[in-house]
Amino acid sequence: MREITENYIDGQFCPSTGTENAPLFNPATEEQIGNVRLSAGRDVDTAVAAAKRAFPAFSNTSPGDRVLMLRRLAAAAADNADAIRKAIQEEYGAPAPFVDFTANHAGNAFLDMAAVLETYARTRNIGTTEVEMRPVGVAGAITPWNANVGFICSKLAVAVAAGTSIVIKPSEMSAMQTQVLAEALHGAGLPSGVFNIVNGSGADAGSALAAHPDIGKISFTGSTTTGQAVYRAAAATMKRVTLELGGKGAQIVLDDADLDVVVPNLLANGFINSGQACIAGTRILVPFRLLAEVEARLAAGLAEWPVGPAFDTASRIGPMVSRKQWDQVQSYIALGRIEGARVLVGGEGRPDGIERGWFVRPTLFTDVSNSMRIAREEIFGPVLSIIPYRDEEDAIRIANDTDYGLQNYVLGTNSDRLRRVARRLESGRVVINGAAHNPLAPFGGTKQSGVGREYGVFGLEAFLEPRALLI
Ligand code: NAD
Repeated sequence: MREITENYIDGQFCPSTGTENAPLFNPATEEQIGNVRLSAGRDVDTAVAAAKRAFPAFSNTSPGDRVLMLRRLAAAAADNADAIRKAIQEEYGAPAPFVDFTANHAGNAFLDMAAVLETYARTRNIGTTEVEMRPVGVAGAITPWNANVGFICSKLAVAVAAGTSIVIKPSEMSAMQTQVLAEALHGAGLPSGVFNIVNGSGADAGSALAAHPDIGKISFTGSTTTGQAVYRAAAATMKRVTLELGGKGAQIVLDDADLDVVVPNLLANGFINSGQACIAGTRILVPFRLLAEVEARLAAGLAEWPVGPAFDTASRIGPMVSRKQWDQVQSYIALGRIEGARVLVGGEGRPDGIERGWFVRPTLFTDVSNSMRIAREEIFGPVLSIIPYRDEEDAIRIANDTDYGLQNYVLGTNSDRLRRVARRLESGRVVINGAAHNPLAPFGGTKQSGVGREYGVFGLEAFLEPRALLI
């Protein structure tokens, strides 16, 4: 049993003053593997005070110095990639490809920001006015369990690049991963107080950070409901916010699509991170003419998506993170039947042969209407809905008929048509034909998927504000 009782404040590990613990589990076995001490608002105050003390000197360091700090952070993460990988596997249970991506992303997030900072023009002239982009103030960051390590690193990277000190409240369900990462990043030797990590619940530590009067900027990643609470809390002191929230992405299969190529792509986009991904393409939009064939091919394609524990390298779908998440996925599968959708493959319960662990059966629903709750709400598991459409206009209408707008997908063969359809989708990102991840492209959503963008120069500018000198 691992007992995590400390925060990282002012350059050192120090005991939390909280009195409550939260249990930590291995989702593949359901065994409790540790506890994390939940910090009180007092710890948030201490961390914010440390960040505030560090801010004046840090915000006046040169970009060149901060590029060097980012490189040291990258090296510290890379040197500890194996320990990070192991902690993600044990505490989160994600299959190997996601774990590898996350462990590598941890280091790369710092290098990507270093590259942005190296070429970023911080001042520009408008007539005789000099405009300088200045750090926005002490930052606060809040991360979700489904990508805790990745978001700690990307939010810390942008804060360092911008010259803002930061207090991070990670997901309380990911404390073992946070601990391994914090120990690694401590080794980078940043000035004390530049980054601080406070473990705690959302209701206490998270809301204290979102409301803290000395925080100038909140970068939040999590559910839309929590994002709304953070937005309200931030308004009281006019904090700048970046909110990265939920999604219900569509994957539009155009009628000229090569199904040999497209069908594996549809499953990969839908089952990202065992379906526990904001960017998952969970609504598969198929022309009526191709419906029967796509259904058959998707059902057959599930054979390529074995469910199992992280240590089994053949697994491509791991367990749900918690009992609560397992229950939620089960209830949505039951709801889909009640709403009149047809289970093509999968259904309630665990996959055959698996007795323990929060594993679910990858499930494909067909005969789904976009008005059903399974097509409108974030299920956050490997459950996909197939929705038929009449023509291109109908596909675009269905794709846009959602409260969310994070990431959509378009798949087909005619590149002009792919771009034409993609340009009409209401989302922060559209992926055409399984295009590769670009870590410098802006990341974020429209509508209830959030406010603002992360990554690359757009992410950096979200931590800066212009100051005009009228000369
Ligand atoms: P969550 O909203 O339950 O929790 C996210 C974080 O907010 C946690 O650290 C939690 O402790 C904290 N929190 C909870 N209540 C709070 C409050 N009142 N004030 C301040 N902080 C509070 O989300 P989750 O279940 O951890 O993560 C899954 C969700 O995150 C999904 O909806 C997913 O789509 C979303 N997500 C979005 C992105 C993106 O980039 N758009 C990426 C990953 C996950």
